[in-house]
Amino acid sequence: MSITLHDTVLTYPDGDGVLRVLDHVSLAVRRGELAAVTGPSGSGKSSLLAVAGLLTAPDFGTVTVNGTDTTGLSRSQRTALRREQLGFVFQQSNLLASLTAVDQLLMTAHLRGGRVRDHRDRARDLLTSLGLDGHLDKRPHQLSGGQRQRVAIARSLMNDPSVLLVDEPTSALDEARSREIVGLLAGLAHERDLAIVMVTHDLARLDLVDELYEMHSGVLTHSSAPAPA
Ligand code: ADP
Ligand code: MG
Repeated sequence: MSITLHDTVLTYPDGDGVLRVLDHVSLAVRRGELAAVTGPSGSGKSSLLAVAGLLTAPDFGTVTVNGTDTTGLSRSQRTALRREQLGFVFQQSNLLASLTAVDQLLMTAHLRGGRVRDHRDRARDLLTSLGLDGHLDKRPHQLSGGQRQRVAIARSLMNDPSVLLVDEPTSALDEARSREIVGLLAGLAHERDLAIVMVTHDLARLDLVDELYEMHSGVLTHSSAPAPA
C-alpha cells in the first residue's frame, strides 16, 4: 500500500466540547489505483487529505506513506517525506498570475537541487504529456479552467511522487471538462503507477474510479464497487 490511514481520529475544539472531524478513519490506496472519497460539504474530506498529506497530525491512529510509519517523525522528516513522496492538487489551481505554465512547475524545483535546464525539460515534457502542448508559455489568464487544472496536476508531478492527493479538482469545471480531468487522473494512476486519493462531491464521474469511499460526519465507509456508468 502506498498510502494508509489506520484508525485515525482528528478533533477540533468546539465550544465546550470537541468536533470529531475524522472518526476512526481507515483508508488504504495502492499504486496504480484512483480512489474517490465523496460526501457532503463539512463531512471531513479535506481534513482527511490534510492528515494523509502530513499537513495535520491526527490525535490518534497512524499514517503510513510508502511503508514509512509517520507517527514518530520530526517535523523536518515529515516535510522531507512530503516533498519526496506526495503531490497535491487543490480545488482552485493556485497558480501564480504572473508565471507561465512552465515557470509554475519550476517554482519548487530548486528545492530538489539539480540543473535548471533538466527541470525545465521535465516541466515541458509533463505539460506536453497532459495535453498542454502549445500552452507552455501562457499565463493563467490565457488558459481555460480545465487547462489551469492540468497545469496544477503537472506541477504536482514535478517531484515524481508516489501518492497524489487531490481536493475537489472539478468543482469549477463544466461537465465535459470535469470528465476529462477525472479521466486524466485515472490514466495517471494506471500509467504512472500513482496512488491517487481524489476528494469530490461530484458523483457523475465515479464510473471512472477504481475504489469508492463515502464520508459522513467524519466516518469513512468503503463501497466495494464504483457507481455504474
Ligand atoms: P469537507 O472538506 O468535507 O467539506 P472539512 O474537512 O473541510 O470538510 O471540514 C470538516 C469539519 O471540520 C467542518 O465542520 C469544519 O468546519 C471543521 N474544521 C475544518 N478545519 C478546521 C479547523 N482548522 N478548526 C476547526 N474546525 C475545522
Ligand atoms: Mg473540502
